[in-house]
Amino acid sequence: MTRTLTILGATGSVGSQALDLVTRNPGRWQVEALTANSDVEGLAKAARACGARFAAIADETAYAALKDALAGTDIEVAAGKDAICEAARRPGEVVLTAIVGAAGLGPTLAAVERGATLGIANKETLVCAGPVVTAAAKASGARLLPVDSEHNAVFQVFDHDQPDRVAKIILTCSGGPFRTRARAELKTVSVADACKHPTWSMGAKISIDSATLMNKGLELIEAWHLFPVGAEKLDVIIHPQSVVHSMVEYVDGSVLAQLGSPDMRIPIAYAMAWPERIATPAARLDLARIGSLTFEAPDLERFPCLALAWDALRAGGSAPCILNAANEVAVAAFIAGQVSFLDIDAIVAATLSRLPAGPVGSLAEVLAVDADARRVAGDEVRARLP
Ligand code: NAD
Ligand code: MG
Repeated sequence: MTRTLTILGATGSVGSQALDLVTRNPGRWQVEALTANSDVEGLAKAARACGARFAAIADETAYAALKDALAGTDIEVAAGKDAICEAARRPGEVVLTAIVGAAGLGPTLAAVERGATLGIANKETLVCAGPVVTAAAKASGARLLPVDSEHNAVFQVFDHDQPDRVAKIILTCSGGPFRTRARAELKTVSVADACKHPTWSMGAKISIDSATLMNKGLELIEAWHLFPVGAEKLDVIIHPQSVVHSMVEYVDGSVLAQLGSPDMRIPIAYAMAWPERIATPAARLDLARIGSLTFEAPDLERFPCLALAWDALRAGGSAPCILNAANEVAVAAFIAGQVSFLDIDAIVAATLSRLPAGPVGSLAEVLAVDADARRVAGDEVRARLP
């Protein structure tokens, strides 16, 4: 049976892998809408290739260019921030949220509020507005299926009927490209060095988050929103081979894990086809060839972003939103060559210490906290400019 599918962030790493699955499975999905930030050419090409009904670009100055690029097709075109939300509101049964950053919040909520089935890759939305998104999902009956490989792994081995039998959720973490580097050596690493992920090929922002370990920190908070266990039951272990995607330990001492080659098409396909399982072109896991799987404890002193995220999770309220916004600002400044790699954790820590956490209940409150944190983090960037 054909299902309608919308991909928010269709031109990125996750979005294009999702489109690869669509192309390989003719008849399984009819693409309702695709969105992108500013890549007109990439969006138009994808929309033509999959026969999308609607294509939306966030950059409103790109409307004419997108219209031109899709001339001669029936594909409807729109531009601007609201157009991305409109794409989410259109009747796609499954909505893959593959926008990067808190920019995904509005469109994710729009899909949640109409009760869609969501494949959630956009973890920043859960980190900054988890309570708002999960409450809206409860009210509308929307289903939140994790695409992030760790959370997808946990979802597959979690006893959803007996969450109280879960003793621990153990998120695995590759350790990133600087796993074995001394902290002093990290002062001068380049954006290209930070983006050279040892096992996964991903967009720039998440690659840098993987190098600081903020990615794992965001994932702890994401896990807390997705699975009904307390923060004290969440754990992180470094596993450089990225074969065990995460584990759930039960009260009897059993540990269940999901394994696979590090190919995002596995969790993307899982979420897009759920509750079915479909074939993917991902390389089969050859454990004999891999030989050994290793594990080690994370080093919170060399990678303070993970400690900052733990603290924000424990503090609750607005702290995760402040953490996320400050990190987005700091990572953008690092990519722009304005600050050094080690400034990233310093900017996040300074922003958190300047803005005491308070309660957040509504979307308006989340947006106000996010804006405040971006302003303070921006000051912290300016204070560090060379
Ligand atoms: P990416 O940078 O490759 O792609 C991001 C997409 O979002 C692009 O289509 C871009 O056009 C769009 N976008 C960016 N800013 C936007 C804005 N302001 N408004 C509207 N659209 C915007 O990112 P990615 O690596 O594909 O990651 C996407 C999300 O998935 C992130 O939240 C990331 O943490 C998560 N994720 C990615 C991977 C991976 O393998 N890449 C794995 C797990 C989770
Ligand atoms: Mg992940």
